[in-house]
Amino acid sequence: MNKFKSFLVNLCRTLLAITFIFSGFVKSIDPLGTQYKIGDYLEALNLAGKVPEWIQLITSIGLSAIEFTLGVLILLAIQRRLVSKLTVFFMVCMTAVTLWLTIGNPIQDCGCFGDAIRLSNSMTFGKNVVLLTASIVVMKWPLYQVRFISKTNQWIATYFTIVFIVVASVLSLYHLPIFDFRPYFIGQNIKKGMEIPKDAKPTVYKNTFICVKDGVQKEFDEKNFPYDDSTWVFIDSKQEIVEQGYEPPIHDFSITNEETGEDLTEAILTKKNYTFLLISPFFEVAEDGNFGEIDYIYEYAKEHGYDFYGLSASTDYGVKHWRDVTGAEYPIYTTDGTTLKTVIRSNPGLLLLYQGTIINKWSHNDLPTAEELNAPLNLLSIGHEPEDSTWSKIFAIVLCYILPLILLIVADRIWAWTQWVKKREQWLKEKEQWLVKKEQSNKLYQLLKRKRQMRKKIVAGNWKMNETLQEGIALATEINDALKADKPNCDVVICTPFIHLASVANVLDKELVGLGAENCADKEKGAYTGEVSAAMVKSTGAEYVILGHSERRQYYGETAEILKEKVQLALANGLKVIFCCGESLEEREANKQNEVVKAELEGSVFNLSAEEWKNIILAYEPIWAIGTGKTATSDQAEEMLAYIRSIVADKFGKEIAAETSILYGGSCNAKNADELFSKPNIDGGLIGGASLKAADFKAIIDAWKK
Ligand code: PEP
Repeated sequence: MNKFKSFLVNLCRTLLAITFIFSGFVKSIDPLGTQYKIGDYLEALNLAGKVPEWIQLITSIGLSAIEFTLGVLILLAIQRRLVSKLTVFFMVCMTAVTLWLTIGNPIQDCGCFGDAIRLSNSMTFGKNVVLLTASIVVMKWPLYQVRFISKTNQWIATYFTIVFIVVASVLSLYHLPIFDFRPYFIGQNIKKGMEIPKDAKPTVYKNTFICVKDGVQKEFDEKNFPYDDSTWVFIDSKQEIVEQGYEPPIHDFSITNEETGEDLTEAILTKKNYTFLLISPFFEVAEDGNFGEIDYIYEYAKEHGYDFYGLSASTDYGVKHWRDVTGAEYPIYTTDGTTLKTVIRSNPGLLLLYQGTIINKWSHNDLPTAEELNAPLNLLSIGHEPEDSTWSKIFAIVLCYILPLILLIVADRIWAWTQWVKKREQWLKEKEQWLVKKEQSNKLYQLLKRKRQMRKKIVAGNWKMNETLQEGIALATEINDALKADKPNCDVVICTPFIHLASVANVLDKELVGLGAENCADKEKGAYTGEVSAAMVKSTGAEYVILGHSERRQYYGETAEILKEKVQLALANGLKVIFCCGESLEEREANKQNEVVKAELEGSVFNLSAEEWKNIILAYEPIWAIGTGKTATSDQAEEMLAYIRSIVADKFGKEIAAETSILYGGSCNAKNADELFSKPNIDGGLIGGASLKAADFKAIIDAWKK
């Protein structure tokens, strides 16, 4: 279907392009002819004389140039959407005009193809219906038109075309139309052009005679005309064409001497010698700047015995005005104005006849000069019919327009190809780089994955100051049993108050659940009433201790310095430290979380050796999320844990950072654990409230299984 659509669109587009280019061109090279046609339309609309001639001329040049340019744009598929819409608009207007011509017949020839092709009004209408249909097809699927020139260089072709056609128009106006499609071309014998072949079909006319008798008017034809009844008085007659017969190419040429009423056509067209005819449809509007040259040619004609006549449809006043202005002495005879406009597109223009044959034609801008007229005409090249120059004119157009356009298209195609090659090379390069990057990131990902697998995943409970000894033993037993029944795939730790430690140690399976304290003293031993040393913690069977918890910092004034001491003592006594850090709400709102966390780590644990660091587990616990039910989003938590890992890397190196377990703490529960633990830098959780119920705690542990 798409192939058919493409075929159809391109067929319609070719038809439109050829028609527009041809009709636009033949009108452009005959701007005066097109102007006369516009005049005919104005007359049919009763607007004759209301639109100045210069506006008609500009309209003629403009319309023809638009039509030609539109044709080229369609042919090259430039601005496909816009041009297809403009074409439909153009064709709608043209079809409406030709419908009017077909119905009302106000003008015989629509002028679509200038003088090159003449169509009857109904044929023109039919042609426009076909073209309108074609333009609608193209507008429906404009993008199916195959492009010949890239978008980037389209403007060159467009402007070049406009300049070409306007220049061709102006040159044709200044000189004469490049191609002469009218019956008065060079080489035409006017008399022969008027001949009707013997076997030609004659035009059949119907004559009607209008007579009156006793005030009654009646129409008669040849058959019933009252030849014998003289009481009928003839007042008028009319003639209609019943059947159009052969019409010779020249059917309206005559020369009359207005003063004598004598028809001079035959006499002038059968002259044995050269005859100059100065043609001016109307002397009133003729260009009179070259009268010097005209007078010279007249004198030259007289001297060599050639006839020189002026032909015009001017009024006596117009002729007198011309004689007054130019001093013209040559005889001026009368010929129909429309005929004279057809004979030569210049006012005035000069025609050279030899025995009734048109030998040469000149616009008033190109009249032969005194230097050229230096001998009798038979000895001069201008006195002989020039060789047919049609091919040299076509060659000139090819050279000036078609060839540069083709070269432009070829250059554009080469340019487009090099662009494509460049793009492809670039694309291949980028693809290669992308593959390398992918490979690298794959490797990095694999490394991180391996490291992450190597890193311990931990879920640690922090009972805080909850549970009596008996309750604590029961809770620990329940957790232990649950994990025994369903083995965890992460490390599990419960951190209890000091008084629970020894008893809870007895109920826990060490392989399944690790035990930790929530604090230890910053002194080794001695007279520190109420304190519990790291050594004492270790002696209960505990292996972990939470240090730096925000509640200890906040309520018991534990400073970075105190915590540093505690960490040292805990490590020295073989305990693993779960070291907490985190910012307050105000600090986060002031966007100071990174610097707060960094300061806490630098103040208490970044002094450790790499060896000591192996027993450090970090826990990021934003204070605003602890026990509040407000969890940091998984992205916020991931962002901070990634940052912590980066500063650990800065301090201890990437390898150690990759091996450090960093937990998130702060309202972590069974519902959000999955999401939090799915983040690459979150290695588990430090759980407060949710660690006090075995089922809740177990559900968080199980999040690692998902
Ligand atoms: C905590 O105190 O370490 C903690 C994370 O508490 P909760 O889970 O209740 O917010």
